[in-house]
Amino acid sequence: MEKKRKIETLCVQSGYTPRNGEARISPIVQSTTFRYESADRVADLFDLKEAGFFYTRLSNPTVDALEKKVAALEGGAAAVATASGQAASFYSVINIASAGDNIVCFSAVYGGTFTLFHATLRRLGIEVRFAPLNDFDEMEKLIDKKTKALFGEVLTNPNVDVLDVEKFASLAKTHNIVSIVDNTFLTPYLFRPLEWGVDIVIHSSTKYLDGHATSVGGVIVDGGKFDWKNADYPLINDEDENYHGLSFSASFGNTAYAVRARAVLLRDIGAVQSPMNAFLTMLGIDTLHLRMVRHSENALRAAKFLENHPKVSRVKYPALEGDPNHALSKKYFPKGSSGVISVDIKGGSEAAKKFIDSISLITLAVHVADVRSHALHPASMTHRQLSEAKLMEVGINPATVRLSLGIEDIEDIIDDLRQALERV
Ligand SMILES: *Cc1c(COP(=O)(O)O)cnc(C)c1O
Repeated sequence: MEKKRKIETLCVQSGYTPRNGEARISPIVQSTTFRYESADRVADLFDLKEAGFFYTRLSNPTVDALEKKVAALEGGAAAVATASGQAASFYSVINIASAGDNIVCFSAVYGGTFTLFHATLRRLGIEVRFAPLNDFDEMEKLIDKKTKALFGEVLTNPNVDVLDVEKFASLAKTHNIVSIVDNTFLTPYLFRPLEWGVDIVIHSSTKYLDGHATSVGGVIVDGGKFDWKNADYPLINDEDENYHGLSFSASFGNTAYAVRARAVLLRDIGAVQSPMNAFLTMLGIDTLHLRMVRHSENALRAAKFLENHPKVSRVKYPALEGDPNHALSKKYFPKGSSGVISVDIKGGSEAAKKFIDSISLITLAVHVADVRSHALHPASMTHRQLSEAKLMEVGINPATVRLSLGIEDIEDIIDDLRQALERV
């Protein structure tokens, strides 16, 4: 029933449906545990023979409502919420890959994802091989018998480049391996990767899903279409001795990936989302469809203003006519290209810092994607540990400022940009 509704309706109404006399909106079930009357019933819960709540590290009614909401928005079969976007990225890979396996990833990914993959996963024996964004020949060369997934970010943070999602999903299908994308910057309102053939979608819900900068969180969405039984995924297919020899694909069919992420990873590693954060994130999602339109409109207007300003040397925003990603953004994001733009200020690092020190309505904050407008200077902040050469390699010029457009009045935002540029 729910799936046929329009996404605007799903934003407001999906996830939680009260029964007669129950609270209209999902209550915050701030309880670690749940009461039962029969020992056999609890044993069945432990054996995954029955679904139900018994301990909040595995599942909780408030978190469950958020999971159902995000699964409905993405059009997936099931979802698992995590403590952060980082936990979602980590689990999305280790749910199917063990030491000795590898994944192939486009190098244009969020900085935290890059270090998780390049350093931490490598230390655990999972090699992550990197290809330049949208270089599918190079990506294909890196695939071998031990490759368990292809990974990409749909709209990249901080450079706002666009993954060619259809080609990415089709390369994974050719090799019968799982495709995973990080859809954080678009949200399912602007783009739904599963409709283009992607298998697994992850989010840092900390960003636009929450949208108010209140709650760190993540979500993994299982598309439910991957044919595990006819592919080489021992963690999903083989008998798991810790669950009395159960095979996730044999027992759970199209939600095998999501069930394993919960039953094994949340159980053993425990980066679970709190009920309070799930509640606040759902409150954010109730207005996602209104906010994303305004974020996209404001970003486009600001990008057009900056493009024509004499103190700006370059503006990157996929919806701009001259942008290198314009064709891809038109194909994939007809409703808008979200709220983040990358701007180079003439005069290099010093000019960029002067600009940041001069903004007043727009605030300096290490955050993107909430209702308030923010600005950040990657070279001296998020990426300050990188050498000048490495900065250039990951596409960050010392003159680059990352702007995250909020939903304030656009004339006020542009006035602030104008006065800050005048001081440079
Ligand atoms: C912020 C971010 C993450 C990490 O999410 P946290 O919730 O901060 O752990 C991952 N991917 C992208 C694209 C992000 O912007």
